[in-house]
This record gives sequence, structure tokens and C-alpha cells, in this order.
Amino acid sequence: MEIGFVGLGKMGTGMARNLIRAGHQLTVYNRTPEKAESLRGDGATVADSPANAARGTQAVFTMLADDHALAHVTFGEHGIAAGLQKGAVHISCSTISTHLARRVMDEHTERGQVMISAPVFGRPEAAEAKRLIVVPAGEHRTLERLQPLFDAIGRRTFVAGDQPWKANALKLCGNFMIASMLEAFSESFAVVRKSGMDHHIFLEIMKELFGSPVYANYGSIIADEKFEPAFELKLGLKDVRLALDAAMEVAAPMPFASIVRDQLISAIANGQEGLDWSSIALVSARNAGLPTREAAQKSGARA
Ligand code: NAP
Repeated sequence: MEIGFVGLGKMGTGMARNLIRAGHQLTVYNRTPEKAESLRGDGATVADSPANAARGTQAVFTMLADDHALAHVTFGEHGIAAGLQKGAVHISCSTISTHLARRVMDEHTERGQVMISAPVFGRPEAAEAKRLIVVPAGEHRTLERLQPLFDAIGRRTFVAGDQPWKANALKLCGNFMIASMLEAFSESFAVVRKSGMDHHIFLEIMKELFGSPVYANYGSIIADEKFEPAFELKLGLKDVRLALDAAMEVAAPMPFASIVRDQLISAIANGQEGLDWSSIALVSARNAGLPTREAAQKSGARA
């Protein structure tokens, strides 16, 4: 299939590469052109605008940071909407608000174009390894036709419904679950460490108890304080904030999400926006007066 791909960040690069590996012809665009150039060697054609990445394709993927980026890339000058032919599909994979998902769908529909949401679960290494969980929503027949594309980027597909925004609501709730787990690990590790115990033992017990790769992976990252950014904390805050907005739309309170949001804001206030979102653990560690690798590195740099 002729496919466009816009947004070659940590997630988009692996996804685009897997679409090429599955035999599709890709035309790619990224705001910072060097990231698009790196895919030329894999066989992609590089476009000079989102409109040109979409032009002549049957489907164009977007994998962008946030609402602002998606709105700009879709409806701005030389945006996707200007290049996408009638009947072609915009596959929006970014984690965005339900509000923007509805707007993007409405504006594409007015132009005779089709939009589906297909947010994903999994970190950049899962994107690279074709191990994402894909959660599409939109017109049933369109989703059926696009299934080979979901298979090319992920290990499982869960259809969320026939209206794109519903997939975004589901993704936001899923990320809230992960954020809650991060906060629970953070607080528990702080107590365990402050009590003079080895938090790695606590982690081993939790791995046994929950039996989830997500618990095992994030638990280890936090225990070892390896906060290199696979998913930046500022994007994590965006998602918890958007989950609260989605909850407000349907009048379903999320009291715990408000607490997690404030912990993430505290992390931002301490300069962690570019660290991985699991570094929320530093907030509980600092509050407990515990030494952290981050603090040790800072004081080492000052000495
Ligand atoms: P990232 O590495 O920061 O990449 C963001 C992409 O958006 C880059 O291509 C960036 O272009 C582009 N972008 C940002 N602002 C833009 C603007 N104003 N105009 C045009 N392009 C813009 O982020 P990521 O981790 O790949 O995440 C992408 C999306 O996937 C986000 O919605 C995130 O919430 C979601 N997600 C992430 C993960 C994860 O673990 N990382 C997992 C699942 C879902 P430049 O290269 O020029 O900056």
C-alpha cells in the first residue's frame, strides 16, 4: 500500500520502519528533517511537507507529541488535509484529547476524507520490535481494510468502537492506570527504603504477585533509577491531564488522577520534564528525605 507517515520521534521511527519491512511504500515527513533522512536508507521517500507526505497515498499515519502538533500538522499550511485525496484515511496514533479527535474527524469528513484513531500501548522498544498493542476506532469496514497495517506495527489489535474519539478515551484511561502504578511504586519504594530494607526484594515480590511485564519493567526502571527518557514526563503529564478532561466530559470523577497529576507537576517543577515519566518516583523519594542518584550526580557536579 502507498502510505504516508508524519512524526518520526521515538515511537514513529520504529512504526514507520515496520511498515516498510511489511512491504509498504512509505513517504515520510518530520519537522526536524534529519530524523526523516535516517529512514531513506530503509527505503522511504522523504517529503518536504505533511501535505506532500499524504498526497497520492491511501492512508497517512500521524505519530506526534500532542494536540497542538497534530492540529498544526493536519490543518496548518501545507498540512495533511491539504494533500490527502478524497476517500483516503488519516490514521491518528498520537495520544490526544477526545475533543481534538472529534474535530479532526469532522474536518476530514467535510473534505470527503476519512479519519480513524489508532493509539498504541508500548514503549519505543516495543514499537521497534512490532510488539505494540493497537487500539483503533472508526468505521468498521475501514478498520477491516487497514488490519494488515495494524498487524505490521503491533502484536494485538483491540477495536474500541466505531467513533475514533472512543479509542482516545480508552488510551487515556490506560495511561492513567500506568501512571497510577508508577505512583504506587514510588510511594512504596520510599517507605521500604526509608525503613532500611532493600527495595529490590520488594520489587521481586511485586513481580511475583502481579505477573505483568509492565510492572516488572517499570518496577526495575524505578528501583535502579534509570530514567533515560523513553516516554518523557511532560508527555505523561499531558496524558493524565487529558484523562481528567475526558472524565469531565462524561461527568465521571477521577480523584486519584488529580493526585497523580499534581505529583507529575511537582516533578516538572524540579526540572524532570525531559526525564522518563517513571522519574515521578523522585518526588516521593525527595519527600521522604531519601538520597537519590540524581541528587548525588548534582552534588558531584557541584563539587
Ligand atoms: P517524541 O519522541 O517527542 O516525538 C514527537 C514527534 O512529534 C516528533 O516527530 C516531533 O518532531 C513531532 N512534533 C512535536 N511538536 C510538533 C509540532 N509543533 N509540529 C510538528 N511536529 C511536531 O514523542 P514519542 O515518544 O514518539 O510520542 C509520540 C506520541 O505517542 C505522543 O502522543 C505520546 O504520548 C504517544 N506515545 C508515546 C509512547 C512512548 O513510550 N514514548 C508510547 C505510546 C504512545 P521533531 O522531531 O521535529 O521534534
